[in-house]
Amino acid sequence: MFPCLTMLTFRMLGAAQILTVALAQTSPTPVSPAFPPSSKIAQDVSTLLENGPRVAGSAALKKAGDYLEAQYGASGYSTRVETFEYNKFFDEGSQLEIGNKVLEGSALDGSSGGDFSAALVAVAGVGTLEEFRAANVTGKIAVVRRGTLRFAEKAQNAVQAGARGLIIVNNAPGNLRGGTLAAEVTIPVLGVSGADGAVLLERTGEQATLSVKAERRTIVGRNLIAALPGVTAPKILFGAHYDSVQGAPGANDNASGTASILEMARRAANTPLAQSAWFVAFDGEEDGLRGSRAFVKTHASLVGGLKAMLNFDMVGVDVTPLSVGGTLALLERSERAVPELRRLNDGSSGSDHASFLEAGSPALFFYRGMDPNYHQPGDTVVQPEMLEETVLAGLKVAGELLR
Ligand SMILES: [Zn+2]
Repeated sequence: MFPCLTMLTFRMLGAAQILTVALAQTSPTPVSPAFPPSSKIAQDVSTLLENGPRVAGSAALKKAGDYLEAQYGASGYSTRVETFEYNKFFDEGSQLEIGNKVLEGSALDGSSGGDFSAALVAVAGVGTLEEFRAANVTGKIAVVRRGTLRFAEKAQNAVQAGARGLIIVNNAPGNLRGGTLAAEVTIPVLGVSGADGAVLLERTGEQATLSVKAERRTIVGRNLIAALPGVTAPKILFGAHYDSVQGAPGANDNASGTASILEMARRAANTPLAQSAWFVAFDGEEDGLRGSRAFVKTHASLVGGLKAMLNFDMVGVDVTPLSVGGTLALLERSERAVPELRRLNDGSSGSDHASFLEAGSPALFFYRGMDPNYHQPGDTVVQPEMLEETVLAGLKVAGELLR
């Protein structure tokens, strides 16, 4: 057991983003690997954060990809970027004004734009059609809490009940960022924090001005593929998305997974494992698994020949012990290889492994639980010991699955 664990915190100061690394003493956590963490992983995470949020289509994403390419190349891997195009939703600045208060919010992916004044109305419950109708939302700006129903269902119910706009109040810490409606809706839909939402739910009946500047633009996504020269039909595919949402630096979501598979590649480079593996950093995950969907489409026969896709997402903060979900047969073997792994209740959705499962490929999802900094400006923290443990577990599981 290590005497104490260090938690590396990356602080950003203003537009210049000066990175300082401060070592903070934290209470010891139960799980620690056999040897000290590779400082390279921590350095990888801090470099990935250097240019701000790695939003798909942004310069920061491209720079992160360049860094990864250089790192894989330094370990003898050939790399290439596979691009794909999609229509990405951009929130160019959205807010709600009530009295002299201006509340910043985030438009949900699929929201319409709009700028108008109308009465606010609080909707009780979770936003069923009956609840919207009972609140008489016709021509008004409806306010409903997050939870139980998907964002898309709440929005469709609001539209059907005649609402002119919809505010969804977050039930998790911080602002509601990166929410998606899965389809276009005809009204503006704004996500706000729980604190701001509580104010709005109190002020039902008052006039408010909703302003949502939303647009879609075609962007070019960039999947980064690394493999040893000559490895064209891998049995194991290690994957992690390297994009993050607007407004969130993305240390845990998901520089943690991106740096972990890079480190696995480094350690496997001169072992038989690398002769049967590909390492892929996916783009566009935050916009609906865009990169992994494009990959399985482009590489259908390769995906059909995989023994396993291993996906790592949010593995840097010990909200829970390292957990795994996905294909049952793989789960049992992975637990044999790493008994400390905890089984996820539902490991079939929520990140890039879902694209592979849908394509019929066996897959596992490695995850450490919902981080309070999820999709927040505070997502700047990782615990190197958690990354080290993830690297060891990933390599052991891959070794077991190849046996
Ligand atoms: Zn993620």
